[in-house]
Amino acid sequence: MDRWTTIIEPFRIHAVEPIRLTTQDERERALEEAGWNLFSLHADDVLIDLLTDSGTGAMSRDQWAAVQHGDESYAGSPSWFLFRDAVQELFAFKHIIPTHQGRAAEKILYTVVGGPGKIIPNNTHFDTTRANVEFTGAEAVDLVIAEGRQPALIHPFKGHMDTVALDALLAERGADSPIVVVTITNNSGGGQPVSLANLRAVREVCDKYGKPLFLDGCRFAENAWFIKTREPGQEHRSPKEIIQEIGRLVDGMTMSAKKDGMVNIGGWLAMNDDTLAEQCRNLLILTEGFPTYGGLAGRDLEAIAQGLREVVSEDYLRYRIESTAYLGNALLEAGIPCVQPFGGHAVYLDARALLPHIPPLEYPGQALAVELYRAGGIRGCEIGTVMFGMRPDGTEVSGPMDLVRLAIPRRTYTQSHIDYVIEVARDVAARAGSLRGYRIAKQPKQLRHFTATFAPLA
Ligand SMILES: *Cc1c(COP(=O)(O)O)cnc(C)c1O
Repeated sequence: MDRWTTIIEPFRIHAVEPIRLTTQDERERALEEAGWNLFSLHADDVLIDLLTDSGTGAMSRDQWAAVQHGDESYAGSPSWFLFRDAVQELFAFKHIIPTHQGRAAEKILYTVVGGPGKIIPNNTHFDTTRANVEFTGAEAVDLVIAEGRQPALIHPFKGHMDTVALDALLAERGADSPIVVVTITNNSGGGQPVSLANLRAVREVCDKYGKPLFLDGCRFAENAWFIKTREPGQEHRSPKEIIQEIGRLVDGMTMSAKKDGMVNIGGWLAMNDDTLAEQCRNLLILTEGFPTYGGLAGRDLEAIAQGLREVVSEDYLRYRIESTAYLGNALLEAGIPCVQPFGGHAVYLDARALLPHIPPLEYPGQALAVELYRAGGIRGCEIGTVMFGMRPDGTEVSGPMDLVRLAIPRRTYTQSHIDYVIEVARDVAARAGSLRGYRIAKQPKQLRHFTATFAPLA
């Protein structure tokens, strides 16, 4: 590394995608039409779209070339072998099973290992993971360390699994736990990493009880960068070496390639166990496709293979993690409380702390997310009382936190786009006291955040 400190995108732009500038009047009309639900906007009315980092990144020149190289043979395509080898170069599992995205891998795995009476321990289940575990009748148990539940607390590895709690759980219910899962990075906890030391400790507990350990590996490369830069003794290793060691510590994984696969669609399921692999492949054929393409076209398999070569680049990972922290630090300086330390893929704004005059049941996260769009055309995602505040019996409670997530698509926005987000957020924060809450006008019984309509309170 040179002595310069400016964070520079380690790429230049090769194909240009226009984004549309809108006026505040236009955005106010769009909001009204969408019932103040940002999921209902037309994406071309959004200037900077930070709704999610899933499948929203830009592919490289070499990935588009790989798309052209795709071979669409039904069985045994050369693209399949390229894909399998690229996955195994990082994660040397015996069986690699391609799926159309992460949840398809989860659906297959948990259908085989789950079921009524079973429990699945995880540091924190991502929402599709929890849904797929619970759909089989099994129970999803979150065992993240206590530090991981406190938004403002600084800890280098807030994604750690509480191994004492895991040991106690397996001592009591080991017979009901078919596998143990660790999610890297811990998405639901704010994109927080897990160290190699913690993975080894989890491995030890799993060995004590004879349990296979699986990864939910969606952001494995970002996690490896945090290990390299934060875990003592790891600074001289390459991200690839760290990832390979992570792979050796576990027995299998589910993966959404829409994250660190650097593609717009794709995923995989992998494991060493032959019997489990056979059961999973049988289900794969039922819902996804033949085992050499899963739910994907040959061209998708090639794009993932190339994406996996690019995601382990130190220049890319340094830029990725530093540019996310750049946004977070600027927001903190503007007086906006955020979840800390900053994760790899997103910055989480603490709307409940910024807008103390708006009670949780008037949705401070929604108020902040809507105002960022109204003022500047920036779309974030409420993660709070709207998302988590409705009980199955239809009663309402406040969510554990009221956050707005600004997720950063990979290699998509430039420094000036991010500076613009900072300028808008600073303006919104300066008049935080004048923001008003919302009421829900109409909502479905489940997953209401996607389709509910709102009305601003006077
Ligand atoms: C995105 C994600 C999934 C699900 O993957 P999809 O490709 O969206 O189906 C599972 N786990 C984690 C941690 C994720 O971030």
